Amino acid sequence: MANSENLQSSVSSIAPVTSPFLNYLNELHQKYQSLNDGKIADYIPELALAKPEWFGICVATVDGQLFEVGNCDQLFTVQSISKAFVFGLALEDHGREYVNCKVSVEPTGEAFNSIVLDEITNRPYNPMVNAGAIATADLIKGKNSTERLKRLLEMFKGYTGRDHDINVPVFLSEKGTGFRNKAMAYLMLNFGMVSEKIDETLDLYFQQCSIMVNARDLAMLSATLANGGINPITKQRAIAEEYVRDVISVMLTCGMYDASGEWAYRVGLPAKSGVGGGITAVALRKLGVGTFSPLLDKKGNSTRGVKVCEDLSRDFGLHLFNVVKPTHNLEEWILR
Ligand code: GLN
Repeated sequence: MANSENLQSSVSSIAPVTSPFLNYLNELHQKYQSLNDGKIADYIPELALAKPEWFGICVATVDGQLFEVGNCDQLFTVQSISKAFVFGLALEDHGREYVNCKVSVEPTGEAFNSIVLDEITNRPYNPMVNAGAIATADLIKGKNSTERLKRLLEMFKGYTGRDHDINVPVFLSEKGTGFRNKAMAYLMLNFGMVSEKIDETLDLYFQQCSIMVNARDLAMLSATLANGGINPITKQRAIAEEYVRDVISVMLTCGMYDASGEWAYRVGLPAKSGVGGGITAVALRKLGVGTFSPLLDKKGNSTRGVKVCEDLSRDFGLHLFNVVKPTHNLEEWILR
């Protein structure tokens, strides 16, 4: 079974000490370290403890190379990034049709915590807004709360190659103050869209948001998706191949809150962000990007992380619909 040491040792034997790509990432890091726009999330006191200077960039390729600069060991809570991966697990548990009866896949253009359901079907709009994520967490199978959480953590380990802990103070704060999430959950219960075990599901949702990750984990999450669901370093399958497409298409249309259209236009990579300051972005069949910087823009996305992804996408022609020759050739630099 892979663990953090396995991942570390396999990585250090593969990753080059220096390379043009690593130099490029270092330059990006320097360029945006001085960007101090944005605000640290402070809706619970634990998140406000983050330091504005924290900044890590990690790129993991589908052939198992890892490139990292800055604070890539700093742990933070995964928050909304978990939503994409829990959606994948719900699909494995129930299949596409059933999950789609419970949660739509339509972007909202509304904030992540908006209390809106589809008027005709009563479904939440998509698995990336809180209401949809709670309905999705409700679908995670397990005979009790412990087993459901264990399955969720195992799923994460499949992607990242290491064990993850819950940040208990964050979990308790989310649970203690998440009245809006509870209201949405009960509204969905009223419409029969979630099961009676909704209090247990709310705990599971608050726990999934409180999973601790670092920028390297975020790169591995997206590199695994980019690699068709198999972790490129441990070679373990994290999600059934047939559902990779579902997860990344919803990431593309809904992953960056109500900035998803702008992101698709500018960056053109399926991605998901969280209020902890993380972004994970998928360049299919190529690589995964993980960034961490807790300063958030008005839409709740990491200011430096967005900039890094914009530059990477432009310079390496990673935009899904790119047709022009990029200034840097990824195949020459890192993917041979
Ligand atoms: N825990 C947060 C919530 O449910 C998730 C927020 C986020 O990352 N957007 O409100």
